[in-house]
Amino acid sequence: MSTEQTSQKNSARILLLPGDGIGPEVVAAAQRVMQAAVDGSDRTLEFEEGLIGGVALDKTGDPLPDEVVERFDHVDAVLLGAVGDPKWDTAPAEKRPEKGLLKLRASLNAWANLRPIKVHKPLISASTLKPEVVEGVDILVVRELTSGIYFGQPKTRSGQPPQREAVDTMRYREEEVKRIARIAFEAAQDRRKEVVSVDKANVLVTSQLWREVVTEVAQDYPDVTLRHLLVDNAAMQLVRDPRQFDVLLTTNMFGDILSDEAAMLTGSIGMLPSASIGGRVGLYEPVHGSAPDLAGKNVANPLGTVLSAAMLFRFTLGWSDLARAIELAVEDVLNLGYHTADLPGAPDREVGTREMTDAVIDHLERRLAMT
Ligand code: NAD
Repeated sequence: MSTEQTSQKNSARILLLPGDGIGPEVVAAAQRVMQAAVDGSDRTLEFEEGLIGGVALDKTGDPLPDEVVERFDHVDAVLLGAVGDPKWDTAPAEKRPEKGLLKLRASLNAWANLRPIKVHKPLISASTLKPEVVEGVDILVVRELTSGIYFGQPKTRSGQPPQREAVDTMRYREEEVKRIARIAFEAAQDRRKEVVSVDKANVLVTSQLWREVVTEVAQDYPDVTLRHLLVDNAAMQLVRDPRQFDVLLTTNMFGDILSDEAAMLTGSIGMLPSASIGGRVGLYEPVHGSAPDLAGKNVANPLGTVLSAAMLFRFTLGWSDLARAIELAVEDVLNLGYHTADLPGAPDREVGTREMTDAVIDHLERRLAMT
């Protein structure tokens, strides 16, 4: 599996799962941007929609109906908005919107999670860190998603007070490390060609295996430099000098923690995209949740979802030219000072979800006309 598909196709079918809260608004924005990117080209997109989350519970009693899961086999990629609705907060676990998300991830079995963390210059003041520390940060976190301590067996709990005991098992197989390492090295080839692999090899044997295998895989990528860091040091370096990182490769649990830490370097959750690939079909989604407080008000920031669509173009369809054009259009709009209410900026440049989307499309069309 390659991070950037080499054999491109000219048409693609995308399943949109808007979900709850601001999900429908931000997914509609991304759909418009994707359509604008292919209009006038020889590439075509077909969109279909499915139910997930609270809206699926309302209509079918199931937070992710099987009928939607079956459609994964007939589409090229899935773009998710967000799930979660306070109306279901007191419902039993099986009847919670978030259950749909768990079922979605389980049925896709995507083992590679990619989270780009980019600090956009006009938004630098949104970070809680000093501007001189975060200016220029551009990191891709590559996290193993289906193995490690979250899934290892045995996982048990036993005993009664005062002798209660619990066991989690951290296990990694060579092939699991190899395939995620390849994703990181291939992604790095398209970036600054640097991979930092994060482990805890001074105490964990799984980390010693991880380090060994990643080092072996690196031999196939002589143009990429590899550095190993212990996870405690990595956590510290991320806030001390985050610009030193290009691609950060790590295990499921360390990636869970470090990707949230890295996300906070930007201070703007509405801007962050993500991809989960390697499974049945690629899943693309913004990092944020359903923000029910903002739903239906045309104030949600659509850019995390728009940038997720750019990742979909790059990582599933191999349309990196269009992905780049979308990313540059987002940069253009931010550089002109346009911002949604969650982002810092001048009051006279504050725009709503639709207006932000219009501005991105306008700049995207200009970018595409230049090529
Ligand atoms: P959230 O991400 O929805 O919101 C956190 C804060 O960020 C809120 O102040 C919100 O207004 C703001 N925010 C989030 N996205 C924004 C955007 N695009 N534009 C502007 N502001 C934005 O997280 P939460 O409040 O903890 O959870 C709300 C609901 O979302 C819960 O039901 C939770 O379970 C669910 N959730 C879903 C996902 C997902 O679908 N992947 C992820 C996280 C939370």
